[in-house]
Amino acid sequence: MENQFLVDSEHLSPQALERKHRLETDPASRKNHMEYMPGMEEIKSDVCKNVLEHMTSYDYSKYTSKDVKAALEHENCTIEDFKALLSPAAESFLEQMAQRASLETSKHFGNTVYLFTPLYIANYCENYCVYCGFNCYNHINRMKLSAEQIDKEMKVIADSGMEEILILTGESRAQSDIKYIGEACRLASKYFRMVGLEIYPVNTDEYKYLHECGADYVTVFQETYDTEKYEQLHLWGHKRVWPYRFDAQERALMAGMRGVAFSALLGLSDFRKDALASALHVYFLQRKYPHAEMSLSCPRLRPIINNDKINPLDVHEKQLCQIICAYRIFLPFVGITVSSRESAEFRNGIVRIAATKVSAGVSTGIGDHESKYSGGEPSGMHGDEQFEIDDNRSLDKMYKDIADEGLQPVLNDYLYV
Ligand code: SF4
Repeated sequence: MENQFLVDSEHLSPQALERKHRLETDPASRKNHMEYMPGMEEIKSDVCKNVLEHMTSYDYSKYTSKDVKAALEHENCTIEDFKALLSPAAESFLEQMAQRASLETSKHFGNTVYLFTPLYIANYCENYCVYCGFNCYNHINRMKLSAEQIDKEMKVIADSGMEEILILTGESRAQSDIKYIGEACRLASKYFRMVGLEIYPVNTDEYKYLHECGADYVTVFQETYDTEKYEQLHLWGHKRVWPYRFDAQERALMAGMRGVAFSALLGLSDFRKDALASALHVYFLQRKYPHAEMSLSCPRLRPIINNDKINPLDVHEKQLCQIICAYRIFLPFVGITVSSRESAEFRNGIVRIAATKVSAGVSTGIGDHESKYSGGEPSGMHGDEQFEIDDNRSLDKMYKDIADEGLQPVLNDYLYV
């Protein structure tokens, strides 16, 4: 394999250091995060207004055990019920919530659990998100796979039996342009039946092109729906524009994508409000696009390289479990993905209750699936990893563990005719 990776061996220039310092210390030096940048498409959707209204007025301290009991008794969970289930008052009803969630999951998904693997094809990024190891000021190994390398990595993953892939790029239009990503989608559709994308948000015509290249669904993490906190954490780059990011899933659906996925990074801000907003984002879009497949992820902030800039608001496993059960009760048809950031024990437990999709054979570095899957020596050609993963299980091991839980691991249930 030809060596394509670039190493950031130079320290930041004095100008870059000065700009970084200014962005961190002087809010007036930062762009307005609610204003679109040139070239960003504005679709005038009403979904954002609805979500923000609910989130802003959500006072979870007012909910009581009585509200939680009532929510659990209702056959259809209303928005008000969902708010009660996310509140601290529901923490002592975790067992009942898990039972109800488990019932809904088996009603709508049987005992199936879907498996997929993410493939990072690049880790260049033009944004300055202060909590992320990939950000443009961090001193990490950057790498971008060539088409030949992508093909090779995909073949290795496909040979393991995996039928669904999620392609990730970091967020750099300059390094990973639409044509490059489109080429990766074309390669992926040779090997996989389901191709997902987790890339920087793009305009409708670009999503349409990527769909034509073979992409089926689009994942965009809003990170936090708290616009003020968002402003303090995303200091530079196109990602700073909060509303453009918010409307990404809707643009993807307008472009013909079959499905979209959503998430906040729980812990960046008030996790109860972010969980409420994530689920309502799904809820209101589902009403506008009833044909679309939707899913929610629930990542928690994890330790990352060079991250001493923020003080994460802890979301403990018990609270994460509460959120996932509340998601399932409120949105019974929606897929719920739990990533390898969580431990094997947690994932084994939550798939029996509410989660319907898990990643396996994960590497958040670049270009190392070959050594990982074949068990061979690492090639030494890796881009750095974005964050630490907790659950390192291979596809085979994950498959076996899910089956041992009495569940049915599924690699894909789509047939193209
Ligand atoms: S979170 Fe995403 S956009 Fe932000 S710095 Fe990391 S890779 Fe870039």
